[in-house]
Amino acid sequence: GRREGRVAFVGRSNVGKSSLINRVVGAKVAQTSAQPGKTRALHFYDWKDGRKIIVDLPGYGFAKQSKDDRDHWAGLISEYLEVVEGLERAVVLIDARNGPTEKDVEAIDFLRSESVPMLFAITKTDQWKTQSDRSRRRREIESALRGLGYGPELAFYTSSEKNLGIREVQAELRKSAPPTETERESR
Ligand code: GDP
Repeated sequence: GRREGRVAFVGRSNVGKSSLINRVVGAKVAQTSAQPGKTRALHFYDWKDGRKIIVDLPGYGFAKQSKDDRDHWAGLISEYLEVVEGLERAVVLIDARNGPTEKDVEAIDFLRSESVPMLFAITKTDQWKTQSDRSRRRREIESALRGLGYGPELAFYTSSEKNLGIREVQAELRKSAPPTETERESR
């Protein structure tokens, strides 16, 4: 059969990445609330139901990270991309309360330069308390994404705590990924 697609989850430390991975996979595979900024390893989880391998990339942008640690992130992912001939997709996590930050934009730019298709999971949307807060923040996020060249259909509003938006993310990831350039050329 077809090789399982690899989907990377990327985001700033503490954005809620482990919690979202656990919701998507439907099991406690990723360790939550570990010391922020300390995890430098890649982790792989088998999402059997979605026939994907989830690639948990180390969080970036932790305030106490040294410049070496920050450079390490881009180095790690570009080496990884060389070895596995590209990811099917990346899920870029954006904190509902403050994103996309400058660091998120750097990560998005980097992934785009590596031709990785992206979708965006807005995390912790339960922190939006009022309807006007919700719609204002959504407009801000969508306009920032539009400025980067990504449409609102790629933004998924989630809360791992309240179990919101998870099914939508799963459904999107289950869709067969857009063909890579190499696949298109060989047709
Ligand atoms: P990671 O460092 O990006 O892997 O983030 P974690 O999943 O470990 O979560 C970091 C912190 O955010 C923890 O204190 C979580 O309890 C909290 N958190 C994660 N998801 C949510 C959410 O959906 N809503 C709220 N309010 N907090 C969350």
